[in-house]
Amino acid sequence: MTDQINSISRAYHRIDLPRIVVIGDGVINGLGGICTELGYSNALIVTGNNTLKIAGEKVQNILEKSAILSRHIFVSDAQLETVGRVMEEAKKDETEVLVGVGGGRNIDVAKLAAAKTGLPFISVPTVASHDGIASNLASIKGMERPYTMKAASPVAVVMDSKIILESPYRYTASGCGDIISKATEVADWKLAHKEKNEYYGGYSGSLALMSSELVMENVEEICNLTENGIRTLLEALISCGVAMSIAGSSRPCSGSAHLFSHALDLIAPQLALHGEQCGVGSIMMAKLHGLDWEKIRSCLKTLNAPITAKDLKIDRELIIKALVIAQSVRPERYTILSKITLNENSAEELAEECDVI
Ligand SMILES: [Zn+2]
Repeated sequence: MTDQINSISRAYHRIDLPRIVVIGDGVINGLGGICTELGYSNALIVTGNNTLKIAGEKVQNILEKSAILSRHIFVSDAQLETVGRVMEEAKKDETEVLVGVGGGRNIDVAKLAAAKTGLPFISVPTVASHDGIASNLASIKGMERPYTMKAASPVAVVMDSKIILESPYRYTASGCGDIISKATEVADWKLAHKEKNEYYGGYSGSLALMSSELVMENVEEICNLTENGIRTLLEALISCGVAMSIAGSSRPCSGSAHLFSHALDLIAPQLALHGEQCGVGSIMMAKLHGLDWEKIRSCLKTLNAPITAKDLKIDRELIIKALVIAQSVRPERYTILSKITLNENSAEELAEECDVI
């Protein structure tokens, strides 16, 4: 009997996905209707000072029109204490839903506070800078590790392309870097499957890889901010969030290029955006994998995304150091950097060969 239960629990695989995803010009105006449809009448909006002006106030007005009670709480960082503050506020006044409005920080805080309080969470991104907007993982500072942790999957994602189009282009290019890097991250996962017999999820791996390919095929349209280009990027961000939910971890979306980015976060914090760092990392990791690194580089170049240390505004020594320590940030995640151990000389050579430094 115990064996039977064990085999059932091993086979048990839970996938939490958003119930509603809306993408398009002006879709933010439908947020009240979505809340009503989902049965929420009392919302806590988690936002920042800047995003309150961009979309937070609008969200509050929209909810008011649908007779949904709402109030907001400001967050200025993604520290664990901030999550605690949001949780305290969420426990008051019969809050029924948390609405994260803004970039990665506000959404990550709302997402983790939702997971910890058991409340549902709606994601309203104002920038398309990374794939956390639709995933069940959050990047929170003040934890023992610099990478993402499990949080709540959003019950709804509302991506207003008009708001994204009005955001600084740098964030959009960063989102492309995060997505393009899946080419190497999925290669890392396949390598772990081949060499360490790690489980490889064909659906989630293919979904992440396809997102990377579609964004690379559409770089011209994305940098010209055409409707099709923006839609391709936004759907790729959603698809990667879904890929992580299907896999039950960040595995399809986070490998060696992400380890390089996490290493930079440790030694050169807040100099560049996550997706910018992942894009540059992906150029070098593609070379190690024997993939077409020049294609990744040229797509990032077309997008006006960073391709060099100078573009990232990070010193060459820090790039080399990040390459050397990357795998140690998360040793259990097998990647090409587990197979090919870089020292200072080989890291420098790699970065030079890829014209990063
Ligand atoms: Zn990422």
